[in-house]
Formats: sequence, C-alpha cells, structure tokens
Amino acid sequence: MYSWAPVSVPAVPPSEDVPGRLSLFDTSLRAVTPVGPESGEARMYVCGITPYDATHLGHANTYLTFDLVQRAWLDLGLGVNYSQNVTDVDDPLLERAAQTGQDWDELASDQIELFRTDMEALRVIPPRHYVGAVESIGLVVRYIERLAETDLVYQIDDPEHPDWYFRTAQVPGFGAVSGLDEQRMIDVFRDNGGDPDRPGKRHPLDSLLWQFARRGEPAWESSLGAGRPGWHVECVAISLQHLGPHFDLQGGGRDLIFPHHEMCAAQALAFTGEPMADACVHSGLVALDGEKMSKSKGNLELVSRLRKAGADPMAIRLALLAHHYRSDWEWRPEMLDEAVARLERWRSVLNDATAVPAAETIAAMRTAIRNDLDAPAALAAVDAWVAASSAMTSDDVDAVGEMVAAIDALLGVRL
Ligand SMILES: [Zn+2]
Repeated sequence: MYSWAPVSVPAVPPSEDVPGRLSLFDTSLRAVTPVGPESGEARMYVCGITPYDATHLGHANTYLTFDLVQRAWLDLGLGVNYSQNVTDVDDPLLERAAQTGQDWDELASDQIELFRTDMEALRVIPPRHYVGAVESIGLVVRYIERLAETDLVYQIDDPEHPDWYFRTAQVPGFGAVSGLDEQRMIDVFRDNGGDPDRPGKRHPLDSLLWQFARRGEPAWESSLGAGRPGWHVECVAISLQHLGPHFDLQGGGRDLIFPHHEMCAAQALAFTGEPMADACVHSGLVALDGEKMSKSKGNLELVSRLRKAGADPMAIRLALLAHHYRSDWEWRPEMLDEAVARLERWRSVLNDATAVPAAETIAAMRTAIRNDLDAPAALAAVDAWVAASSAMTSDDVDAVGEMVAAIDALLGVRL
C-alpha cells in the first residue's frame, strides 16, 4: 500500500439554507443526482495512474475533481472511504521501460513518487487505500478463480498464450454506462488498444482477465498460469476488496467511460450480483495545442515542470478549479498568471483585521459545490467577498478567519 502526506481539513460551522446532499452528474443516468449516503460513510473509487510518465494537468484535473468530492462529503459530516489503484504493471509501462532501457519497476516507483509529490503540493487529501496492481496480484487471481465458477470465463484457443477472458457482453445491462451500441463499442475498443479482432475470442467485446507471460515480460505464478492481470479486473478486485460491493461512486477521466468503466461495471455485476457503484462520475479532458493532453501524443504540461519553474501549487490548483470539472478546455499559460493574480487578491485580505461578514459567502460556496461541483461559482463568490472587503470599511473581526477555513476546507486552497 502506498500513501502520501495527510492533509488537515478545518471544520466549518454549518450554513443555513444550503442543500443537505452532494449532487453530481451520473454518466449512466445522464443526469445530476444525489451521490453518497445521508449519513455514515461514503465510498469512492477513482482509477489511478499508470506510472510511466509524470503527472500532467489532465491527471491533476481528475484528482482535484474527486478531491472536491471528498471535501464536500467531509463538510457534510460524512466519513469517506476513498480508494485508488496504481497500475504499476501494464503494457504502456513495460513499453516505455523497454524504450528507455530502465527497469520497469524502477520506472514505476520513480513516477509514483513524483505523482505523490505533485498530489501533496496540490493539497489533495490522500486516499485511505492507495493500492498497487503488483501487490494485489494474489487478490486478483482469487477474484478470477471465483468468476471462473460462472460460465462467463474461458481460456482463448491459443496454444502459446491461452489467456483468460471474460464474456462481458453476456452481462445484463452491458452498455448502460457509456450508452454506446454494440458496433460503436467494438469500434471504440479497437481504437483504444483493445483486441476485438483477436482470433479465438467468442465475442469481440470479451475482456482480458489474465494474460500469459510474453517473452521478456514480468510474470507471476498462479493457478491460472504464469502471467499478469488485465487492467479492468485489477480495478474491480481492488475496489470491491477495499470498499465492498455496490459503493457510492466510481470515478475517473471521461476517456475511461469506455471501455474501462463499462467493462469494470460488467465484471463487478457478475461477481457480486449488484451494480458496482451507484454513480459513475467523469471529469472533462484538458487539451494543449488543440488536442487532448496525452502521453502518447507528447503534448503535456506537467505539474512538476510548473512547480520547478516556481509556480505556487495553490495557484496551479486555482487555475484548474476555474473550470467546471465536466468541461473540456485547453490549457494556456496565461491561465496560471490569472490564478496567481486571483490568489494575490485573496491573500491581500489576510493583512486586514476586519472584513465584511462571511456567512453568506460560505453558504454560496457550499451551494455551488454541492450543486455538481460548481467550483467556478464558488471562486466567484470568494472574489465578490474579497472585493467587498477591500472596498468598504467593515468591522467583522471573525470573517477573515472563517473565510480562510472555508476556502481551505471546501476548495483545498490554503491562503
Ligand atoms: Zn480503473
């Protein structure tokens, strides 16, 4: 189990007249709906990185989105069991290691360390369970063994690599997460590195559970043969193990809707007889130079590069929060300058002993966040309070402290 440094979250007294639940856009439902329990513990799983390249702003945008979810639940008085995986063995990692001549496990541990440092700098609250694929191989094997008791698991007819597959398309409701029809799913699967055309598969959309060792690749001995797990079953096994069945939220970037989250949902339903999660929530994609930021295209802006160039991590955080989590947008360097200016305006109020009262602004921030994480509206509420406090003489001696705590608790920005 990995982790990063804990983050303290100040308690903020409750506000009058704000929604008592967090509502989010559920991809399967295609509507905004309350997510999380009314009391007790909320359970959330977010797909983690494959550690072969450093954290870019698209990743940071995703993990900040679910950090806001965790903060909103904590602010509602709920406990939160947040679990995240790290795919520390997978094809792209092995390919990158082969290209650079580095050992794959060394590359993974370097990149995990950099990711954790970036998350700490951005004040992302660490997951309770941050679990690697490699340490979970025994767990994944046990899940596949149990799934294999159904008629949904088979070995492909390939004498050299008789890999194990799951009959995804046989599961009732398959397609509900993405809303795609079968032909479209096959096309997207093919375009995203899937293997719909592999000879011997019973259905093009069957998903890989366990692949036998290829030459030169790491492999683990098991009852299934010497090999390693597929990506979807890794997330299913880790999430169910650490959260239990039918948890509240499955999350990730929108590029994970299909095939990853669709296939995870089918496997989890076959395994537990219940939906994997109540809601599927997805963050938008960040572009650079006109295209989605991605490692494969090489158009990346890295959190670590911005930090090295001297950017205040709180300004990076504000630059990301200035966009609604579901929107797709393009990173421009001026966005960091704008965030720096905003942070300076906010911090200027700290020099004053008094400000205008904070209660209405805190209620507006809470209302915005609980309404599908409208961070831009929350930032605008703070802007208005800062402007009013700077413009007029005021005598509320508690307001500055109350706002500092609320901005920290709800937005994760420390002034
Ligand atoms: Zn996943």
